[in-house]
Amino acid sequence: MGPRDTAVSPTRRTQRNRHSATPLGRRERSARARRVDSDAEVRLPTVSPSAASSSGSSLSSWARANPADTSRGEIRSEKRPGLRPGARGSTVGVVRVAVLGAGGRMGATVCRAVAAEADLELVAAVDPRRAGASLGEVAGTAQGDLRVAPGIEALEGARAEVAVDFTSPGAALPNLRWCAGHGVHAVVGTTGLGARAVEELERLFPPEGGGPNCILAPNFAVGAVLMMRLAELAAPFADSAEVVELHHDAKVDAPSGTALRTAERMARAREAAGRGAFGPDPTREESLPGSRGGEGPGGVRVHSVRLRGLVAHQEVLLGATGQSLTIRHDSYDRASFMPGVLLAVRAVAGRPGLTVGIEPLLGL
Ligand code: NAP
Repeated sequence: MGPRDTAVSPTRRTQRNRHSATPLGRRERSARARRVDSDAEVRLPTVSPSAASSSGSSLSSWARANPADTSRGEIRSEKRPGLRPGARGSTVGVVRVAVLGAGGRMGATVCRAVAAEADLELVAAVDPRRAGASLGEVAGTAQGDLRVAPGIEALEGARAEVAVDFTSPGAALPNLRWCAGHGVHAVVGTTGLGARAVEELERLFPPEGGGPNCILAPNFAVGAVLMMRLAELAAPFADSAEVVELHHDAKVDAPSGTALRTAERMARAREAAGRGAFGPDPTREESLPGSRGGEGPGGVRVHSVRLRGLVAHQEVLLGATGQSLTIRHDSYDRASFMPGVLLAVRAVAGRPGLTVGIEPLLGL
């Protein structure tokens, strides 16, 4: 054992070793990733027809159509024929996935989506409120032997390689600190993490050093990602713009991460095109405070609607003299997020450092 090895904590070293027989330096990992890229026989990870149909989302094919980035991961899927997919020890290169917030609306959906994939294995489910319950009770998966754990420490015994976090802003950051310290890649869907939290994630998951990686996306629905891209394209051509985001009545943060990110991207696109912020807002009197929403980046007004029966929806309204353009996306079911989540789970090992948004995974 060389001096470099002694500097690595036993836990971290064990985690690194999950991907190879010996700890790999970043350069070596990149070289290996390139080899995987150029390997003509490599099987491109896809969203399986079963997941696509269970998602009920016609957008799942968009994620399938663009697998370029998902092929770069070092975690390779090579299912051994004749063995039951997902059974421990039955497959080679199957990604061992843990779900944080497994008892929640999104977490339970992720558990079902992961359990349905042959190249992924659900090895741990964490949710303090549902601790001890079987995964069947919590998420309706057939993996009856897996019980929900009270804390993230369960990932160590389960030898999880990728943790998917759909918890709350307050819980996500401690979870991610743990993942960074224990060599577990993270896929984060939790919204409401501010700019300071993102800066911390950049420090926790540096692109160099061979540690774990993180993909943080305010929206995993491929249609929503396209909506943001279209809004960005349209922004320089409009004179005014407002964003209305609409969500279910249990969402605890406002505005949504997607709305803020949309406004940010529109503001940047205008700046790049040599156009300034939208506005000014003509309102001089607001008899009901908040009527005009919040002023987001680039002067884009952002409005948040919370309504029972909704899932996640957003409209981007752009106006110019005598015309308007409305770009709208609707997630009718949480399954709409699953192709993007699975794409990120498969890609995270091959994307050094912190990646924000799934756009690069889709080639956008
Ligand atoms: P939810 O139903 O409240 O689920 C969150 C779950 O996490 C709850 O069961 C909660 O338990 C549990 N939890 C709290 N602390 C935890 C911890 N330390 N470890 C493990 N689990 C913990 O919320 P949701 O609707 O599923 O949404 C979760 C997050 O995903 C929100 O931030 C939401 O905005 C976001 N989201 C993102 C996307 C995307 O595409 N990126 C899409 C939809 C939603 P308690 O109830 O006991 O606190």
